[in-house]
Amino acid sequence: MIIVLKPEPDPDQLSNLMEWLKSLNLKINVSEGENSTILGLIGDTSVVDIELLRALDIVDAVKRVQEPYKNANRKFHPDDTVFTVRGVPIGNGTFNVIAGPCSIETEEQICAVAAAVKASGATLLRGGAFKPRTSPYAFQGLRQNGLKLLLEARDRTNLPVVTEIMDLSHIPLFEDVDVIQIGARNMQNFELLKEIGHLHKPVLLKRGLANSLKELLMSVEYIMSGGNDKIILCERGIRTFETATRNTLDLSAVPVLKKLTHLPVFIDPSHATGIAALVPPMAVAAAACGADGLMIEVHNDPPHALCDGAQSLTPEAFDGVMRAIEKVRPFAVRYDHGTPVMP
Ligand code: PEP
Ligand code: MN
Repeated sequence: MIIVLKPEPDPDQLSNLMEWLKSLNLKINVSEGENSTILGLIGDTSVVDIELLRALDIVDAVKRVQEPYKNANRKFHPDDTVFTVRGVPIGNGTFNVIAGPCSIETEEQICAVAAAVKASGATLLRGGAFKPRTSPYAFQGLRQNGLKLLLEARDRTNLPVVTEIMDLSHIPLFEDVDVIQIGARNMQNFELLKEIGHLHKPVLLKRGLANSLKELLMSVEYIMSGGNDKIILCERGIRTFETATRNTLDLSAVPVLKKLTHLPVFIDPSHATGIAALVPPMAVAAAACGADGLMIEVHNDPPHALCDGAQSLTPEAFDGVMRAIEKVRPFAVRYDHGTPVMP
């Protein structure tokens, strides 16, 4: 981290600043120029409150040379993270599709969708049991019973399951779940992130509706600093001024995250667009730009879905997407330690 001081800083304030930085175990390299003095900080600057520094009278500018996320940073871990979920490899050139309904509704529904998406090539099954709904009057999910039905569908299809946790008090209920999803609305639920960091269970962390990619990586850091490094990042669209789609899909998240971090990056075109007809083109685009996988909502009867029917694909439409992705994959952009390799 570099601190540029204003010309002729007040000596008392400067000595207070130096004492404070030393108390944080930082070494300070002072270089005095003709017009300004620069302090180069050496050590773990992740503990420094950059906004506090910027607000000091004697400080002109502060620049971080190293990002404050260490565990997720590709600079410190150049090779891609690779792990398995119930034997399914994630990352390392694999392409996984997590498919299933927005919400688990009945045993017939989740089992029928699970069988259909498996037949089309999905490698993981999704389904929400605890649903984060904008309205308290909307269907809130089947909760524990939903988890039971999801595990039933796993037993029948052998697909590992991904489902969202909303509160840290629910952690014990998720013991048998294969991948814990932390949804967009909880990306900055820091207490939840800390607890999940102590589990040894893969996590799918979605980008918040109004969060930068840097903030996503800081949230990852909460999980990784607890010791859990099996994390999938998921871009699911962000809020912009555009109203034609539910959110705006930021596909550039793929090359940006690939450069900044070694973690696998998935795209969720369902929540990103909110419209079933837009899901196939965006799914194909995500595969083409080198995402490691997708999360897609599929329902056997979208018009009667209890949640997100408008963006849910029928099993037939999902099958079409999978066939198109098969054709695109050989020509997709690959990443060599975060650098795009064009087809
Ligand atoms: C979901 O995947 O069901 C969900 C609620 O997604 P998001 O957190 O991205 O809105
Ligand atoms: Mn949904």
